[in-house]
Amino acid sequence: MTSPEQPASSHFIRNIIIDDIQTCKYDRPLMTRFPPEPNGYLHMGHAKSICLNFGLAAEFGGVCNLRFDDTNPGKEDIEYVTSIQEDVRWLGFDWKDRLYYASDYFERLYAFAVCLIRMGKAYVCSLNAEQIREYRGTLTQPGKDSPYRNRSIEENLDLFTRMRAGEFPDGAHVLRAKIDMTSPNMVMRDPTIYRIRHASHHRTGNTWCIYPMYDFTHCLSDSIEGITHSICTLEFENNRPLYDWVLDTLAVPCHPRQIEFARLNLTYTVLSKRKLIELVDKKYVSGWDDPRMPTISGIRRRGYPPEAVRNFCERIGVAKKDSTVDMALLEHCVREYLNEHAPRVMGVLHPIRVIIDNFPENHEEMLEAPYHPDNPDMGSRKLPFSRVLYIESDDFMEEPPKKFYRLAPGREVRLRYAYFIRCESVVKDPTTGNILELHCTYDPETRGGGAPDGRKVKATLHWVSEAHAITATIRLYDHLFTRPDPDGDKNGADFKSFINPASFEMLTDCRIEPSLSQATPSSHYQFERLGYFFTDPVDSATGSPIFNRTVTLKDEWMKIRKQ
Ligand code: ATP
Ligand code: MG
Repeated sequence: MTSPEQPASSHFIRNIIIDDIQTCKYDRPLMTRFPPEPNGYLHMGHAKSICLNFGLAAEFGGVCNLRFDDTNPGKEDIEYVTSIQEDVRWLGFDWKDRLYYASDYFERLYAFAVCLIRMGKAYVCSLNAEQIREYRGTLTQPGKDSPYRNRSIEENLDLFTRMRAGEFPDGAHVLRAKIDMTSPNMVMRDPTIYRIRHASHHRTGNTWCIYPMYDFTHCLSDSIEGITHSICTLEFENNRPLYDWVLDTLAVPCHPRQIEFARLNLTYTVLSKRKLIELVDKKYVSGWDDPRMPTISGIRRRGYPPEAVRNFCERIGVAKKDSTVDMALLEHCVREYLNEHAPRVMGVLHPIRVIIDNFPENHEEMLEAPYHPDNPDMGSRKLPFSRVLYIESDDFMEEPPKKFYRLAPGREVRLRYAYFIRCESVVKDPTTGNILELHCTYDPETRGGGAPDGRKVKATLHWVSEAHAITATIRLYDHLFTRPDPDGDKNGADFKSFINPASFEMLTDCRIEPSLSQATPSSHYQFERLGYFFTDPVDSATGSPIFNRTVTLKDEWMKIRKQ
């Protein structure tokens, strides 16, 4: 585990860019791109890449393109295209008019492939997939030349034209770059650059039945757009020589520099599209936007603010070595933002009834309560106080152990913004023995929370007035997995066997203060002493709010840092 709080200035990609600017390497502004494949929803790992690409462009007066790397018609879908745009925008970034699709370049990519054939640098290979694998060799053994490697340029041109025309079934031929079957880098052993796939594409329909491979498409798309720095994750390090080979061989005017950085891993979750798709398809979660998912749509629905996510991405920095970041740091960033920005209100998750015996019946008092102790601009509301209240059931213990300072028989506590109350007696169900209600008295002299005689209480509790409270549904979320490394089981147990059965709990009988009747969907609140909550953007309506717990108040990150 790393403790990733290096200053922003220290990251190596920023240094490369500063260097390139100082040496006037480019005669135009910085241009980066974020190139998702539209085959799933974006997750926190993508957020890191988005913040890096769009962030650097903004910082150095450049621009960042959004480009869909849509060369794989089987797995792609317009639903993903839409969600990806929504997620990038929500994170706070704008590609302006620079929304591109690799599929828009298909005609030009085809022309580049023909160019390579004419140069004698690409050939049509008719080995099947298994034979190609066999001929490729291994890490320790060089590969063998394909028997089709020396086809004439004319024959290659003819076959490639007929591949495009749809004369052959899937898998009959591929187009391969002619590089070096003995290269120590397996990627350079005559990689496939086009394959036949009779599949309808979400943008080009049935226009094409051959599709370019990632390694051929990506570098040329970067070059066509005029990208200066092509930032990608470490697994593409071995592909960099191929990236450069394609651009050098075709002698294109723009040859971006590929720079690799370590992908983000987070504890207690998985950041692999394949695994996230599995969780959705097999219904382990309610959908891509299940608030437990590490997807952008999941954390948005959970109530993570985009500012907190951007701050997190800045803080984790950018390194060249893979590492895992503690989820507690992300949660810390969320708290840090909401601590300042969320109005504070009162709600009781597990209510227990309290009767104030010396408070007149059918009477109410309105108590002034600010929405934020440090920010008067957030205003205040009036809290109704009456004879029957609810407090949190675990704020009371009939036989309190030593360190329990909250309410107990004979003990006095403060009710936030209200009065001191003392517990006088407990009423129980005679058959079950369960506590039904507490009888208390209040001290009218302590209005506002202080006693004129200076006596102290050890606890301040949150509460709501029974007659005025709204009944609400509150959903509690916790880590989706029980292990910090769901993929790390020594005996190879599947990540799904570590799903946390307690990651979701729904409470339907919570009582919240009446001011929340006005809460609109997608609003943040701190429920005092309980955590940060967010009115669900999908299931909530003004007047009948449903709250998702975004994060508790307990900051594990501060504990970890002190260790
Ligand atoms: P796939 O297996 O489908 O290629 P992917 O996670 O690489 O999955 P892409 O849509 O290709 O998904 O990713 C878009 C961009 O986001 C790429 O530049 C990729 O390197 C980057 N990215 C993906 N996952 C992470 C991660 N965990 N941390 C940082 N960047 C990531
Ligand atoms: Mg990818």
